[in-house]
Amino acid sequence: MIEILSPEVVDQIAAGEVVERPAHLVKELVENSIDAGATQIEVEFDQGGRQVKIIDDGAGMGPSELPLALARHATSKIKLSSDLWDLHSFGFRGEALASISAVSKVQIRSRQKNSKTASRILSEFGQASAVESIGGEPGTTILVEDLFANVPARLKFLKSEAAESTQIKNVLRAMALAHPQVTFRVRHKNKLLFFWPAMSTHLQRAKQILEVDELFWGEGECNGIKTKAAMSSPNRTVKNSRQIWLFAQNRWIQDRSLQAAVIDAYRSLLMHGEFPVAAIWVSCDPEDIDVNIHPTKSQVKFLHPSDAFRSVNRAIRHTLETAPWLDAVLAADPQRISSSSVSESKVAYKTAPGPTTNFKFSDSEFQRTQYSQKSMMGTLQELGLKASPPKYEVTPSPSVEIASAGSEENFALNESSPFEVNEKKGYWSQLQVIGQANLTYIVAQTDRAILFVDQHAAHERVMYETLMRAWNSGNIEVQDYLLPLTFDLEPEEVESVIKLQPDFEKLGVYIDEMGPQTIGVRAAPAVIKEKSIQAAIELVATEMVEKGGSFALEKSISDICATLACHSVIRAGQALSVTEMTSLLKQMDEFPLSSFCPHGRPVYVEYPFSKLERDFGRIV
Ligand code: ADP
Ligand code: MG
Repeated sequence: MIEILSPEVVDQIAAGEVVERPAHLVKELVENSIDAGATQIEVEFDQGGRQVKIIDDGAGMGPSELPLALARHATSKIKLSSDLWDLHSFGFRGEALASISAVSKVQIRSRQKNSKTASRILSEFGQASAVESIGGEPGTTILVEDLFANVPARLKFLKSEAAESTQIKNVLRAMALAHPQVTFRVRHKNKLLFFWPAMSTHLQRAKQILEVDELFWGEGECNGIKTKAAMSSPNRTVKNSRQIWLFAQNRWIQDRSLQAAVIDAYRSLLMHGEFPVAAIWVSCDPEDIDVNIHPTKSQVKFLHPSDAFRSVNRAIRHTLETAPWLDAVLAADPQRISSSSVSESKVAYKTAPGPTTNFKFSDSEFQRTQYSQKSMMGTLQELGLKASPPKYEVTPSPSVEIASAGSEENFALNESSPFEVNEKKGYWSQLQVIGQANLTYIVAQTDRAILFVDQHAAHERVMYETLMRAWNSGNIEVQDYLLPLTFDLEPEEVESVIKLQPDFEKLGVYIDEMGPQTIGVRAAPAVIKEKSIQAAIELVATEMVEKGGSFALEKSISDICATLACHSVIRAGQALSVTEMTSLLKQMDEFPLSSFCPHGRPVYVEYPFSKLERDFGRIV
């Protein structure tokens, strides 16, 4: 026998979808407050969210509205289905309060701004009381207790109190990230957990919530889809993707494609297993996005998903390509006190506060001598490099010259104070090379830190960027071989590689088919070693055969350049003169991303003098 379900059962089924977990309930209630125009929201929760209270200073509801607020499909936010495509609110389904009240005890007290009294409605597991008049401030207070007490099956599925609480905290962080203009006060078990005063920008709010004080800003656009992004430097990473916060039309969403867009933007800057911290706000014409594909509204569908991907990707990549964390160091306030522990394995810019007041050598003359500036052009040729000359001009300094021990080079004192950023010189050119350690690391110093630069990784990055630039501009110096370089591949590999002839030529690699199983290289970029050309062509050949028609050289070009670079550069264990080291550092200034090798490993490690001083017990 087919029967129509009773309203109670319908409500419980719906409640399962809308408030599967206490965190969903918190999200629905906070969104209601924001829809009501609240600027102050207080959240109190206990028992892993089975008890929740929300107090807001929003528009409030009149006595006649309270029963409707609890009724299913009753909403003040939309009227027509066409309104779904022009939403100005977070709620629209009119089922959150109905669902919540079906599975808990609910108390709503609300007062409209122009009304003298508040009114209250109580509801126990779907049974609502009559509305009564009561005292109270303007705004709305909603108390939910005994969540799921009447649905033991659902109660069983709740995770531990701690796990549910973590989820609630995440929802609150997301809500706060989406609404910087709202002040949030959160209490857990009667203790203040978060206090986030209203902020005027998303970046400021992101700094409050994500607990990363060095976040960078970026914006991107693709066919009308706009992205704003707050992102961490590649030095400040976490071990999973949970710190990538995505918002579409200010709704917190889960979206694999956009998450991939964020991670892709960090390509060649992160090691395997490293993830950035980022908050991404995407917005577009309401007609280009469907926000109603999921009961908890946590997923959306873009009409043009690839435009959304590009928009996000650009917003982040553009900013990362300028390596803004380097500026942050140069502009660092010397008085800034280190706020977190020193990261020993990676760049520790954040913790480099510069000379502190009790720095012993504070006399500026003395510092200048300590940190003298090299002002001679390094010879690129010595490294076998023919990269374009540095953009900046180097004017030999006429001042006193002092001999540097153990080196044939002379160092000239720089006229300007080392503490001022020299606009013409980049970060790396300003380093003073002290020497080479273990035939592997360039040891150099700035005014506030000693740096160890991995010579292989640094050169690899420079070479990689040179090749990428060549690929993009189609402009690279090519050297003809007297005899073609030949090597053998499988016949199908030869066939597929030959198809890519024009693409290889763009990289400066000229190949021919010398036989069914033989490839010949006629000419190649002068900077590349023969053996790496073979390695790169072999890499492409295997990929092509494995991926067949779906292989796209554009996508692999970064891998190819990395392979070419890796085999062509100076190795660990190779002795370098000061000139060579200085020249390498100068080249790094050509490419802002020089601080990471193409595999994402850091190119250098920095030891702030402040850390040395702490280690020596000079300061505590
Ligand atoms: P929806 O948000 O989809 O409309 P809800 O069940 O969440 O559905 O809320 C039902 C209605 O109750 C809302 O449309 C709104 O008019 C009213 N309401 C809910 N919470 C608040 C609040 N905090 N302040 C003012 N009005 C509210
Ligand atoms: Mg709602």
